[in-house]
Amino acid sequence: MFVLRTFFVVLCVVVRCGASGTESEVNGTSLGGCLDCLSHIPVNGCESRKCHCKVPNLRSSDDNLQLQGRSQFLFPRIYCKTQTDIVVMWNITNSPNNTYFFIDYINKNLSRSQYTRSNTTRCNFTVLENLEPGNTYEIFLNSLTVWPDKNTTIESSTPLTVQTLKLHKKPDRVKKFYLHSLTLSKNAYDAVVRWEKGEDKACYYDIVSFEEDYNSNEIRDLLNNEELKIANLPFGKNYSLIIRALPDKDADENESEPTVLNFAVPTCHETYKLASMCVPDKPENLTANDKLVDYNEKNNSSRHNIQLHWSKPTYAPNYYQIKLMFYNSSHHPIFLNVSGNSTNATIEDVVVSFKDFSVHYLVAITAHSSAGKSATSAIERSFNVSFIPVPEGSTWNDVEVIMIVVGPLIAIGLVIMLTANWYLAKKVAREKKLKYFKELNEKIPPNIITAIGGFSNNSVPDNWEINPNRLIIKSVIGEGAFGLVKKGYHLDSNDDKVEVAIKMMKDHPTMEELKQFYQEIDIMKSVPKHPHLVCLVACVTRGSPLIVVEYCSKGDLQSYLRRAWDKLMKLKNEESFILSMNSQYVSNALYDFSQNDMTDIPQPKELLSFARQIVIGMEYLASLKLIHRDLAARNILLCEDNTVKISDFGLSRDVYYDNVYRKVTGGKVPIRWMALECMTQQVYTTQSDVWAFGILLWEIVTMGSTPYPGIQTQELLPLLKSGFRMERPINCSEELYAIMCKCWKASPLDRPTFSELRVTFDILLEKVSCYLNLNVSDVSMSQHNFYNNTFPERYVKQGKIVDV
Ligand code: AMP
Repeated sequence: MFVLRTFFVVLCVVVRCGASGTESEVNGTSLGGCLDCLSHIPVNGCESRKCHCKVPNLRSSDDNLQLQGRSQFLFPRIYCKTQTDIVVMWNITNSPNNTYFFIDYINKNLSRSQYTRSNTTRCNFTVLENLEPGNTYEIFLNSLTVWPDKNTTIESSTPLTVQTLKLHKKPDRVKKFYLHSLTLSKNAYDAVVRWEKGEDKACYYDIVSFEEDYNSNEIRDLLNNEELKIANLPFGKNYSLIIRALPDKDADENESEPTVLNFAVPTCHETYKLASMCVPDKPENLTANDKLVDYNEKNNSSRHNIQLHWSKPTYAPNYYQIKLMFYNSSHHPIFLNVSGNSTNATIEDVVVSFKDFSVHYLVAITAHSSAGKSATSAIERSFNVSFIPVPEGSTWNDVEVIMIVVGPLIAIGLVIMLTANWYLAKKVAREKKLKYFKELNEKIPPNIITAIGGFSNNSVPDNWEINPNRLIIKSVIGEGAFGLVKKGYHLDSNDDKVEVAIKMMKDHPTMEELKQFYQEIDIMKSVPKHPHLVCLVACVTRGSPLIVVEYCSKGDLQSYLRRAWDKLMKLKNEESFILSMNSQYVSNALYDFSQNDMTDIPQPKELLSFARQIVIGMEYLASLKLIHRDLAARNILLCEDNTVKISDFGLSRDVYYDNVYRKVTGGKVPIRWMALECMTQQVYTTQSDVWAFGILLWEIVTMGSTPYPGIQTQELLPLLKSGFRMERPINCSEELYAIMCKCWKASPLDRPTFSELRVTFDILLEKVSCYLNLNVSDVSMSQHNFYNNTFPERYVKQGKIVDV
């Protein structure tokens, strides 16, 4: 009983510490210093300080007494968590200015751990940092009130028990994702989207927004991870946002499942309800009919009226401008303006010479108002001149008579004309297409390749399609852009089992994903087999589509290199690994083979051979006018015999359409592998693949490190623009580094071509021993620790990177 009473004095609900009394100096720190420290915490601001106010340890092992020390008014809650941080929040609205807060927490997973005390703060939150992933913490919120008489009161909350996020585990998906507000600001809208965190309350989020000019945001603000403002959204666009919770700040994998939000921004007219304020809407439902007016036998020409019709818009423009153009005749375009209230117009007296029969015309209509002009609606037709000239004054009966008399002749004539018409129409269409391609080629640099355009007319008979029951599907070997990749066997025509990798679509793919999957199949079909490309074996396009490709037993090069490096490190740590103490670039005795299992640790010569094989594969792709656009070690696969093969070239598809790279995995763009011009102008060429090859070479040399270690992706563009490039890896010769630097020249034309690179590597391989040193005694550990979890992500989820 006596013991209990003594404890009660020290740990009672209100611990009063007199200014001059010794009670104020529990644990030995002077109260004066503590108060002085606290007084430097701004009253209205939100700042924390490590004030060494050694307040008594409120959490004794005596539970009875602990309960006595708790406040009814302190309610801490967990705002968010990562693998190593917990953000604790509480309400401070009614707390007096002389109250300060701090947290005591303890790791329950460690048997002998002690309470840690956070900084003292006047804020309504504290971030507990450097915690252990997946560990459980007990957290107390304490308040320390300093009274005018310098007495202090300490109160403590009931404990919260919280677990940090686990390593390698996806956070919970966001519960609710919604549009909170859309506000008009200067001819555009600002949207605020909000979400409700999943059960595990992850702190960081990645939001990709898709619109015509799409980009992405990563919510890296610990204290505002429940909403995002997206400014300057143009009128009348549809947006799709995808949010994923991230396990940690720099996480580039193990993102949560996505949650999607679709919303539409009101049009200008919906906003202002005033036609003059807005660019008019594009005229809709345009139709065109030409009517024969008369036929001039002497000139062999006919006169037509073209009647146009379109829908009435909700907001009438000032006027419409109509343009009539002819394809295969010497006609100049004809212009006509009609009032904004019109919904039809007639272009009269268009004379068509009989030699121009089947002349194609195109009518384009644009709505105009003081705010600008609309997008153009256009329609293409050909004059219906397959007629019997109608003499003036003749009636339908006369025509009928003529028809009966010359019927058979007309029928023959008609067939000829229709055939000619069809042929000419085709020719016109082809010319138009050629013109389009020509224009496209003029707009984009010479070796931007029209990947699909190059192959879409491919009429190779489709014997790729197989019955799925010719496949034996085994275990999962990876996960790619579309879904799982499984190992399996294909029963060929002799019923022999051929090892294959089978790429499948995830459940419930979107139409877009399906389209891209089929496009990948199409591109793979068009690429002839090559030893350094992962080639198509077969495909299934009906039902659940499957891509069946050659199997590469050693998986992707990045993982292979990292595994090899880890193994090297392990051997080094075991100290049974005898290091050569040779000088830096002499590699004849890199490892001692006598005592250790060196399988799957590539020799320098092999590493250079990997690089050379990749160059050969890329040279071939370039010759097919294909751009890879995601050339990186993760997309190189390794076979049992150490042949390397370039994979995922089927993703190189969008160039033809919009010249903007959109990788399907959540819109991820491989920033760290991207050439300058890809970042600034979204221009991809074979020469930007050369840049990526330079990065890939760096990955090989550093055994799978992540490029630009220690640099955030956001910092990369300004750095590269200012001329910054990665340093020479410590184990890399000057000559090999010079190759990388050439690949990273700012001007694409100054970079070597793949053909030139092939020659360079041929020469290098002949004198390989001087180029790479994997002697771990020479290589700093930290240099090779680039790919551990603490480094920034390898991708930025961003569709378009703008100049910063
Ligand atoms: P991908 O969809 O091509 O990005 O593939 C995802 C992962 O699946 C790769 O990183 C490899 O580990 C594995 N994988 C893909 N294709 C193959 C293949 N042909 N042979 C062996 N593993 C593969």
